[in-house]
Amino acid sequence: MSTLSLRAEGRRLGVRPRTPQKPPVSRARGIYIHIPFCLRRCSYCDFASYPCVRISDRLLDAYLAALRKEIQLYRLSLSPSRYDTLFIGGGTPTTLPPGELARLIELVARIFNLPAGAEITVEANPDTISREYLATLRRAGVNRISMGVQSTDDRELAFLHRTYRRRGLLEKLSLVAEAGFESFNFDLIYGIPGQTPASWGRSLREVLSFHPPHLSAYQLTPEGRTPLVRWISKGWVEMPDDSQVAELTGILIAKAESFGLYRYEVSNFARPGHECRHNLKYWFGVEYLALGLGAYGHLDGIRYRNTTSLRDYVECLSRNRLPVAWMEQADTERRRLEELAVGLRTIWGVRMRPAEESKLAELLGLHPELIRYLALAEGKLSMTSQGLEHLDYLASLVTFELSRAGRQGEIEVRKPPSAVE
Ligand code: SF4
Repeated sequence: MSTLSLRAEGRRLGVRPRTPQKPPVSRARGIYIHIPFCLRRCSYCDFASYPCVRISDRLLDAYLAALRKEIQLYRLSLSPSRYDTLFIGGGTPTTLPPGELARLIELVARIFNLPAGAEITVEANPDTISREYLATLRRAGVNRISMGVQSTDDRELAFLHRTYRRRGLLEKLSLVAEAGFESFNFDLIYGIPGQTPASWGRSLREVLSFHPPHLSAYQLTPEGRTPLVRWISKGWVEMPDDSQVAELTGILIAKAESFGLYRYEVSNFARPGHECRHNLKYWFGVEYLALGLGAYGHLDGIRYRNTTSLRDYVECLSRNRLPVAWMEQADTERRRLEELAVGLRTIWGVRMRPAEESKLAELLGLHPELIRYLALAEGKLSMTSQGLEHLDYLASLVTFELSRAGRQGEIEVRKPPSAVE
């Protein structure tokens, strides 16, 4: 199949008729800060986080002092750049006293010269906020709250080891909705063992009734050394199969759309104009400074990760050394493949280079069934809505085919998941 015919196929089969326009993605860098403390470990969580009960006030103060030192060290070592988003995530940043968060934001804004209108997001947990807490954050310049809700079903919340239950939760959602932030997001999880289309529909309905301008919905994935993985390996719980997940995904998309939210990334929905500007940087290859325990960053073409040991993090910074535990400068080809894999997560896809278009044409010639999942129009490759359901497989397939190995030898296509037929 020629490039030309691929374009034609794309027009006929794959292109969404009403893709909302891509919001402008500023080339200014973002800043991510990791606060690694939570009220309790969730049963599925594999992030760098510690339950607060195990953290003394002394250790907490030491962490915040180390974080401030890290900020100062980057001020000395980084070339002057523009920054226009700050995302404080975790963990649960709102386990900190609000005054500490406010001081941190003030420091970052001063050192990195954040402009008026910078997007400043704080992740929150329903159990850790109050009307006064949110008011302090607003006064500190926070204009976006991202609240981890996950479900409104008490049985599911208990399974996930969340600390709150439906009744108190709904009050906290209304506090966020009424606090006057420019934007706010609620996070949900689906594909929870035992979750039914009815319980998922109810969670969505209840959360969407607060009209969040942004919704993130993640499919539960067993990962790392978590209780969830242990329960599965012992046969105590069973994850839903592909067809059950597909049904839940269908409910999610329909409900989100009925509340005016469009799917702009595989797990993210927004009202136009409320897409997360910080996350857009990740998906469109804009660099970002990452601070805090275990944080991943991307600066001057180098990807790096801070240590995940709380003790090492604090010690390193007490000796005026950056706590970077891993770094890598990817070659041009690798960077391009990463760009493709990440860019394909959004509905706007990625602009193809001419040689890549021919390679894709070759791939689709061999596997015409993939045209249902991939769309090429005006030189941009994107996933169809069906394609987004198999994103990981398809992105790995495309990047493999465009990689050096794919170009040199016979095309080797791994067996697609059962649902991709
Ligand atoms: S609140 Fe978030 S970071 Fe903390 S344990 Fe739960 S999933 Fe992990």
